[in-house]
Amino acid sequence: MGKYFGTSGIREVVSEKLTPEIALNVGRALGTYLETGTVVVGMDTRTSSELLKNAVVSGLLSAGIGVIDIGLAPTPLTGFAIKLYGADAGVMVTASHNPPQYNGIKVWQANGMAYTPEMENELEEILESGNFRRAPWNEIGRLKKADPRGEYIKQALRIVQLDDSYNVVIDAGNGAGSILSPYLQRELGNIVISLNSHPTGFFVRELEPNARSLSALAKTVRAMKADVGIAHDGDADRIGVVDDTGNFVEYEVMLSLIAGYMLRKFGRGKIVTTVDAGFALDDYVRSLGGGVIRTRVGDVAVADELAKHGGVFGGEPSGTWIMPQWNLTPDGIFAGALVLEMIDELGPLSELAKEVPRYVTLRAKIPCPNEKKAKAMEIIAREALQSFDYERLIDIDGVRIENDDWWILFRPSGTEPIMRITLEAHTEEKAKKLMETAEGLVRGAIKRA
Ligand code: MG
Repeated sequence: MGKYFGTSGIREVVSEKLTPEIALNVGRALGTYLETGTVVVGMDTRTSSELLKNAVVSGLLSAGIGVIDIGLAPTPLTGFAIKLYGADAGVMVTASHNPPQYNGIKVWQANGMAYTPEMENELEEILESGNFRRAPWNEIGRLKKADPRGEYIKQALRIVQLDDSYNVVIDAGNGAGSILSPYLQRELGNIVISLNSHPTGFFVRELEPNARSLSALAKTVRAMKADVGIAHDGDADRIGVVDDTGNFVEYEVMLSLIAGYMLRKFGRGKIVTTVDAGFALDDYVRSLGGGVIRTRVGDVAVADELAKHGGVFGGEPSGTWIMPQWNLTPDGIFAGALVLEMIDELGPLSELAKEVPRYVTLRAKIPCPNEKKAKAMEIIAREALQSFDYERLIDIDGVRIENDDWWILFRPSGTEPIMRITLEAHTEEKAKKLMETAEGLVRGAIKRA
């Protein structure tokens, strides 16, 4: 990780660490990196987004790159627009689910997937060197404005269709999903009730969709006797779902259900997920004739696996879903349409959720200074292998050891000074016992690191 780019592009507090000068230079660095071509630029609803977006646009134009400015747009719409306009890259000004004082910049490839860490490193080097291309007056990039929403909805309706109409409540969290998600649901033929869909940059609820932050959505679904509630984070690359009884559907359950539905819809094949996803997905997908592949945590790793080796669906247990038949950009809005089609084909969500096996998941965060992480992980890896009677080891991202009825993942956080333990077992008793041993091991390793 460099000075600017972290695990999800650049994400900092505005006017402190993320300034218009940095945004300008990111535009210049990307323009210098690309040398020529066109870039789609979109932004979320934050109060600082217009300011930062204009700086990025200026940087790109000054390097001789053409810009298609799509203005306020959820991340998946920016990803869609890159492909629609045949652009060479995309830039999204967003801080996703972070609090309102944050903003960020994330760069996307021509095929719709995010820049890999290697590509971000190259941008970082150009940023640090300050050697930016300055186009002469007659080669300065041209700026166009565009609105790809109509085309997005038209193309989405070619893939997803409903026989019946449903009552759908959308909670866009005052984020960029406000300008697209309710409209797509309406065009599918549903009756839509919108919550928190005024895109002002002032957020009414916490942007991370979870049972706590979606309590108003759950109440509305119950009060309106709706069939489903759909929520997004600030840039709507993620989806959180409330079922027809007003219960938040756990991410792992939703991931299994949609993976299963994608197998039914598109035929047997691979489901791609990350090392922090649980066993329920494997069991459910196997029962439907599919197989599961695990990658590093993050949408780039999932998209990369899908791009290189194919697959029917990719998803993380954070509600980040990639539908490769549609795009390699994670898309919470298209995901919402698929959820409705699944309900249309298979029945009410509260009933479907009962089909997914449930295990006990425990998570712990243990403070660990950033500079101790590497050494501590070394000790943890060595000692975990001795302390647990495991059958398989996955070390593509942290260390995951597993047996037939439990697994443990040890992984340093990419953004905070903590070590994470995630584990799953078939019984509460077993899970607690595993956590006790795992915590002791991690604390000991950090002390000696
Ligand atoms: Mg997001």
